Amino acid sequence: METSVLVIYTGGTIGMKQNAKTETLVPFDFSEIEKEVPELKQFKYKLDTHSFKNPIDSSNIDPSFWSNIATIIKNNYDLYNGFVILHGTDTMSYSASALSFMLENLSKPVIFTGSQLPINLVRTDGKENILSAIEIAASQQDGRPAVPEVCIFFGNTLFRGNRTTKQSAEDFSAFCSHNYPALAKLGVKIKYNSSAIAKPKSNEVLKIYTEMDTSVTGLKIFPGINCDFIDKILNIKGLKGIVIETFGSGNAPTSEKFLSKFKAAIDSGLIVLNITQCQVGSVEMDLYETGTLFKKTGVICGKDMTFEAAITKLSFLLANNKTVTEIKEKLQESLRGEIS
Ligand code: ASP
Repeated sequence: METSVLVIYTGGTIGMKQNAKTETLVPFDFSEIEKEVPELKQFKYKLDTHSFKNPIDSSNIDPSFWSNIATIIKNNYDLYNGFVILHGTDTMSYSASALSFMLENLSKPVIFTGSQLPINLVRTDGKENILSAIEIAASQQDGRPAVPEVCIFFGNTLFRGNRTTKQSAEDFSAFCSHNYPALAKLGVKIKYNSSAIAKPKSNEVLKIYTEMDTSVTGLKIFPGINCDFIDKILNIKGLKGIVIETFGSGNAPTSEKFLSKFKAAIDSGLIVLNITQCQVGSVEMDLYETGTLFKKTGVICGKDMTFEAAITKLSFLLANNKTVTEIKEKLQESLRGEIS
């Protein structure tokens, strides 16, 4: 089969132009991307494009958008060697995390990329990002796709998507992955970090999930946090799960008032997933008393998951599993390499 890549355009700065009247950046027609990047025509492989009818700023992304992307990939899975998704950077880590869960038994590359500067500007980072992402999506090693994972390519580095966070609104290196090594570095050559790249289960067919349960929220604690406010949040009608960002290695206040609110909510069925506010490192609730007392309330250890991976994993598991016990078990397991 001729090597082929499908480029899916969802919106974001990479495909935006300045609106002359308002001077704000607004998405433009995808066909203009090919005009802006004539180098695309030089690729020796088949390159097709699919543009969302209404490209969006990624701040407007929601789970229905993720379902659409998953469905497009499923419908085109046998026709292409790999997929590139052009996406705004603001929520790219959420989308890459969500897609990693929604695509089970993935054995082909799904590479998210975008840019900090619009593609029609002279100093744009968009050209380099899109051209390299396509090359990675088409790459084979020993007759197999080089990176059979949902990834983010940005600023010369390829990351596992569900390990990333947007770290800069300015730098061309907009993303980081503190708790997992880069999957590839691009210089003169593309250097793949083979030992870090997932090995697909052979002979398993791709299965997609299109449902996410949005009965979730996040809560970042801070010194002096008001326990009455916490109480209100934990008792929001319909809330099924919450990702709590704690201090250091998963530590939290030990006051009876604080702990009793969590214990009561968890006892009545709320799932509380504990991740750390630190960018580097992991939740280990047995290190300090401030961790062990919090653990006793029944919170689940999210180890070194990013907030983006934790919240999308929780939504995904709530939508696709029947029991709270099952969800709690899976939250602590690595489903797609999102947790160490
Ligand atoms: N606001 C834009 C977006 O996320 C920013 C970008 O693409 O870099 O869609």
